[in-house]
Amino acid sequence: MQSPLYLYNTLTRRKEPFEPLHPPFVGMYVCGPTVYSETHLGHARPAITFDILFRWLQHLGYRVRYVRNITDVGHLENDADSGEDKIGKKARLEQLEPMEIVQRYMNSFHYNMQLLNTLPPSIEPMASGHIIEQQQMVQEILRNGYAYEVNGSVYFDVERYNKDYHYGKLSGRVLDDLLSYTRDLSGTEEKRSPYDFALWKKADPAHIMRWPSPWGEGYPGWHLECSVMSTKYLGEVFDIHGGGMDLLFPHHECEIAQNVAARGKESVRYWIHNNMITINGQKMARSLNNFITLQELFSGRHPLLAKAYSPMTVRFFILQAHYRSTLDFSNEALQAAEKGLERLLLAMENLERISPSPSGTVDTSQLEANCREAMNDDLNTPVLIALLFEQVKVINQLLEGTASIDVTHLENLKRVFRIYGQDILGLQAEKAGRTDDRLPALVELVLQLRQEARQRKDFASSDRIRDALLKLGIEIKDTKQGTEWRLL
Ligand code: ZN
Repeated sequence: MQSPLYLYNTLTRRKEPFEPLHPPFVGMYVCGPTVYSETHLGHARPAITFDILFRWLQHLGYRVRYVRNITDVGHLENDADSGEDKIGKKARLEQLEPMEIVQRYMNSFHYNMQLLNTLPPSIEPMASGHIIEQQQMVQEILRNGYAYEVNGSVYFDVERYNKDYHYGKLSGRVLDDLLSYTRDLSGTEEKRSPYDFALWKKADPAHIMRWPSPWGEGYPGWHLECSVMSTKYLGEVFDIHGGGMDLLFPHHECEIAQNVAARGKESVRYWIHNNMITINGQKMARSLNNFITLQELFSGRHPLLAKAYSPMTVRFFILQAHYRSTLDFSNEALQAAEKGLERLLLAMENLERISPSPSGTVDTSQLEANCREAMNDDLNTPVLIALLFEQVKVINQLLEGTASIDVTHLENLKRVFRIYGQDILGLQAEKAGRTDDRLPALVELVLQLRQEARQRKDFASSDRIRDALLKLGIEIKDTKQGTEWRLL
């Protein structure tokens, strides 16, 4: 399959034609969340970026295996060698089993991803389910001489690796420069060099998440799980590895080093990174009090938010920027996105009401090719959205009667909005809220029909309605004042 899709590869620092190793199959791995806190804005951008890539590759006819991991092993707070284990800390504070923390925030992540209309990955492996494979990779790296064991921990020997290969090729860093800038890190005296990183860490007595290993009880280093799980499910060499730019160094740099050290070859052909989200021009950080969870965003419950913003508004807002540009969240920008989305969805709805004329003034013959070209140009969603907005104007002219369209062009227009608006951008009318609004009226209608059945002594139907409602989680109770109902 020849693809005209160009993707920006962080490894080569240029846009390259995308040619999968084994077409039509494409393997794509994306770093997923560490599940110890509520899903926040920082999770939304990579999820939406790689959702768009997933959808577009499938549209081009590829069969994509999309793997996104769940980091559920309790790594240390600075993802390095000191501090408390994040999941363990939360478990201790809330007096819960660490796996309860994992489950709770994984559920929250899935729920929020569904609200944002991102498609679920093909495989969602959990780090805790791949401890044996991680130990095997540590052993391969040890065997090849690129790691050393100290007191039950195993560290990757960056300097040794850098003699044979280039540590820093993804991020463009040079190890000698890195070393000359290094501060003295506390708690790292076991390591030969400050840039060495843990492949396996000995668990101190207070550490809850721990597994037996050839080096004693401990837990794997964070970078290891992605090297292991990506190649386990996608093969030793696979097409795409994605994630946020914040993961480029050291996480992805370390992944490359681990794979090369273990197997003598790199695994990833295209490294794709989305840029970061800022809030009112500032980096998002808990310490700056601008850390916004998705539930706060959807409900408006955060001091920085003037109102609630729907999941679809957030999705549309993110897609209005190219994934490699920074994106600044502000109330003004979100409200502008909300208005834009409303106009777009309304036009999509109105499009269905337009009838063709025998001859027309509207020409859509280039439209689909232009949309495809935008997406093939490194997923240029802002250009695609601009193309759709030009058609919103056309739709409004058609509604006003100042333009006309023949049947072929009308079908074209409908197809473009169906493919690019709904299937690729994943924009849809906000369903959840509307269903909730209509639920009471719907239940009242059903209860009225049941009442009529009872009046004609059709108790079988009346009971069937009661049982069916109960199955849907709606309990009804007949009282002297009438029938009451409640959601279970
Ligand atoms: Zn990762």
